Amino acid sequence: MVPGSWWGRGIGVLLPIVNLPKELISSLEGLPGFDAEAFIGVHAAGRQVTSIRVNPDKMRGVPTAFREGARPVPWSSQGYYLPDRPSFIFDPLLHGGTYYVQEASSMFLEQVLRQTADLSRPLRVLDLCAAPGGKSTLIQSVLSADSLLVSNEVIRGRVHILQENMVKWGAANVFITSNDPQDFRRLENYFDVIVVDAPCSGSGLFRREPEAIGEWSLDSVRLCHSRQQRILADVWPALRQGGVLIYSTCSYSREEDEDILDWMIRDLDAEGCRLSAPAEWNIVETVAAASGGYGYRCWPDRLAGEGFFIAAVRKKDGGGYVAPRRLVSPDRATKQEEQRIGSWLREGEWFLFRHQEKMHVLPGTAAGALPVLQSALYLKRAGVPLGVLSAKELIPEHDLAVSTVVNPSLPVLSLSKEEALVYLRKEEIAPGDSPLGWTLVGYEGLNLGWIKVLPRRSNNYYPKEWRILKR
Ligand code: SAM
Repeated sequence: MVPGSWWGRGIGVLLPIVNLPKELISSLEGLPGFDAEAFIGVHAAGRQVTSIRVNPDKMRGVPTAFREGARPVPWSSQGYYLPDRPSFIFDPLLHGGTYYVQEASSMFLEQVLRQTADLSRPLRVLDLCAAPGGKSTLIQSVLSADSLLVSNEVIRGRVHILQENMVKWGAANVFITSNDPQDFRRLENYFDVIVVDAPCSGSGLFRREPEAIGEWSLDSVRLCHSRQQRILADVWPALRQGGVLIYSTCSYSREEDEDILDWMIRDLDAEGCRLSAPAEWNIVETVAAASGGYGYRCWPDRLAGEGFFIAAVRKKDGGGYVAPRRLVSPDRATKQEEQRIGSWLREGEWFLFRHQEKMHVLPGTAAGALPVLQSALYLKRAGVPLGVLSAKELIPEHDLAVSTVVNPSLPVLSLSKEEALVYLRKEEIAPGDSPLGWTLVGYEGLNLGWIKVLPRRSNNYYPKEWRILKR
């Protein structure tokens, strides 16, 4: 039964009408976990849930400022609900990549990765639809240090936000690419895990973004369904035999969720993966009708999070990766260059190379991937750009300052919160008695960027395009 307009009664009073599309409600009838009244009620109530996920390479536990009232997200080892939504923009820790503001349901990806892949092994992982970087930052945090992540975004205009978030996250084992899914056919059988967080009709975010409701239609669901199939078919050859493809959407529609799962199992000849989720998490298992494949649904009236669907399948056929004979050779740093740069880096096995005049660093374990990826894809970033090595000095990149590879014994000027905000606005800060030359600036033990200390003043090298404009 589909009502014409709805009054939620979830909290004992009549709530205002919500304009959820009737066709959406009727199409969801019969789906596991769907309760029309509760679903409409939770949208009418409009309660906002705020959650963050902490960067384990930069901080343990909840940042002090959020400690009061924070509760762990049950399915995430690094996620926390906050009792209200602070003004994140004025928190220097956000700009330093200490945490990512992420919707809680989507953090269930961590469980899917843990239960379907051996994360203690070095893995090659592709996040195909990566901007703005929520899933990529999560994936990077649960992979072993000798794994690598290719974080891809095809839409050129969205690559910069992905890049900004990944730079701030600071990891060296990440490659950022901007390729169409079909370009990954050049990497047949290369990846152990592929995550496709597909573009979708977006109904799962209606509570958080009610303005998107007007753009929803059954036609857009159908369009998304076809696009999702195309993306998956294009990228499938890049998965090795026995590898796992994780598919997710923020749509409630069966056509974009269970039907796609059915199609993958049947047409791509994949095997469904069943996961375990304790009953108290209230994540609902759903079974795709034709194939019997398992999916997992988050409903906002059942748990503290938005609408989300996720499923994993394993590839049955295919083989292992065979590298082509001819690959682009990276421009490896000379011994002398390595020595000059060495003091800027923490102890470790690093691979240093030059790309377009800038020196870069990758973990030694990821070096072999560079020629492969460089030959097949449009690489926007590989590892951490370190800077330009001039005859006199290294002119360091911002990326190095906020990365986890920077030498912890370099000089740091510690700032108060107010001073840190001045720095993040790209205004001049007093260098105190810092030594002349390049100095890191930090806040609560976290690096925010570089200044260059000159006699009696300093130059602020925070990236202009990322500076805080809001007062
Ligand atoms: N995974 C991201 C995260 O967690 O922050 C969100 C990804 S969003 C749901 C889907 C992404 O797919 C968008 O960044 C969008 O630009 C990208 N996209 C759109 N059309 C695409 C296509 N045809 N192939 C691959 N990606 C596409």
